[in-house]
Amino acid sequence: MKNAEKIEIDRRYCKGCMLCKYICPCDVFEPGQTRSDLDYLMPQPIRIENCRVCGLCESNCPDMVLTVFAKEKRKENQ
Ligand code: SF4
Ligand code: SF4
Repeated sequence: MKNAEKIEIDRRYCKGCMLCKYICPCDVFEPGQTRSDLDYLMPQPIRIENCRVCGLCESNCPDMVLTVFAKEKRKENQ
Protein backbone atom coordinates (compact mmCIF):
# COMPACT_ATOMS: atom_id res chain seq x y z
CA MET A 1 0.00 0.00 0.00
CA LYS A 2 1.28 3.45 -0.89
CA ASN A 3 2.04 6.11 1.69
CA ALA A 4 2.84 9.79 1.33
CA GLU A 5 6.21 11.27 2.20
CA LYS A 6 4.90 14.83 2.18
CA ILE A 7 2.11 16.96 0.82
CA GLU A 8 3.00 20.41 -0.46
CA ILE A 9 0.60 23.26 -1.04
CA ASP A 10 1.85 26.30 -2.92
CA ARG A 11 1.05 29.12 -0.55
CA ARG A 12 1.29 31.66 -3.34
CA TYR A 13 -1.95 30.49 -4.90
CA CYS A 14 -4.04 28.43 -2.43
CA LYS A 15 -7.52 29.92 -2.07
CA GLY A 16 -8.47 27.92 1.01
CA CYS A 17 -11.52 26.40 -0.69
CA MET A 18 -10.95 23.10 1.22
CA LEU A 19 -12.01 21.02 -1.77
CA CYS A 20 -8.95 18.90 -1.05
CA LYS A 21 -10.23 18.27 2.47
CA TYR A 22 -13.75 17.38 1.33
CA ILE A 23 -12.66 15.08 -1.48
CA CYS A 24 -10.04 13.14 0.47
CA PRO A 25 -11.37 9.65 1.30
CA CYS A 26 -8.78 9.23 4.07
CA ASP A 27 -9.52 12.34 6.15
CA VAL A 28 -5.99 13.71 5.82
CA PHE A 29 -6.67 17.46 5.93
CA GLU A 30 -7.99 19.92 8.46
CA PRO A 31 -8.24 23.70 8.12
CA GLY A 32 -5.05 25.20 9.48
CA GLN A 33 -3.92 28.54 10.86
CA THR A 34 -1.41 29.37 8.13
CA ARG A 35 -2.53 31.95 5.58
CA SER A 36 -1.66 31.80 1.92
CA ASP A 37 -0.22 34.80 0.12
CA LEU A 38 -3.81 35.49 -0.99
CA ASP A 39 -4.76 35.70 2.72
CA TYR A 40 -6.84 32.53 2.89
CA LEU A 41 -6.49 29.94 5.64
CA MET A 42 -4.84 26.91 4.12
CA PRO A 43 -5.52 23.23 4.80
CA GLN A 44 -2.97 21.24 6.78
CA PRO A 45 -2.28 17.54 6.08
CA ILE A 46 -2.38 16.67 9.76
CA ARG A 47 -3.13 12.99 9.20
CA ILE A 48 -0.62 12.40 6.42
CA GLU A 49 -0.11 8.86 7.73
CA ASN A 50 -3.63 8.09 6.42
CA CYS A 51 -2.77 9.16 2.87
CA ARG A 52 -2.91 6.42 0.22
CA VAL A 53 -1.61 8.64 -2.61
CA CYS A 54 -4.83 8.28 -4.59
CA GLY A 55 -4.28 11.68 -6.23
CA LEU A 56 -7.85 12.92 -5.78
CA CYS A 57 -6.80 16.05 -3.89
CA GLU A 58 -4.23 16.93 -6.56
CA SER A 59 -6.57 16.43 -9.47
CA ASN A 60 -9.47 18.28 -7.84
CA CYS A 61 -7.59 21.33 -6.60
CA PRO A 62 -9.02 24.08 -8.81
CA ASP A 63 -5.72 25.93 -8.80
CA MET A 64 -3.47 22.87 -9.16
CA VAL A 65 -1.35 23.97 -6.24
CA LEU A 66 -1.25 20.74 -4.27
CA THR A 67 1.35 18.00 -4.75
CA VAL A 68 1.49 14.63 -3.01
CA PHE A 69 4.90 12.97 -2.84
CA ALA A 70 4.82 9.19 -2.42
CA LYS A 71 7.28 7.44 -0.16
CA GLU A 72 9.93 5.56 -2.06
CA LYS A 73 9.35 1.84 -1.93
CA ARG A 74 12.05 0.08 0.02
CA LYS A 75 13.97 -2.45 -1.97
CA GLU A 76 13.80 -5.95 -0.60
CA ASN A 77 16.82 -7.38 1.19
CA GLN A 78 18.10 -4.00 2.35
S1 SF4 B 1 -8.17 22.50 -3.10
FE1 SF4 B 1 -6.30 23.63 -3.62
S2 SF4 B 1 -6.86 25.80 -3.46
FE2 SF4 B 1 -8.42 24.61 -2.38
S3 SF4 B 1 -7.72 24.59 -0.24
FE3 SF4 B 1 -6.95 22.72 -1.22
S4 SF4 B 1 -4.87 23.25 -1.92
FE4 SF4 B 1 -5.96 25.19 -1.49
S1 SF4 C 1 -3.71 11.63 -2.26
FE1 SF4 C 1 -5.77 10.84 -1.77
S2 SF4 C 1 -5.56 10.02 0.31
FE2 SF4 C 1 -3.79 11.35 -0.02
S3 SF4 C 1 -4.39 13.35 0.80
FE3 SF4 C 1 -4.88 13.34 -1.40
S4 SF4 C 1 -7.03 12.68 -1.54
FE4 SF4 C 1 -6.26 12.14 0.52
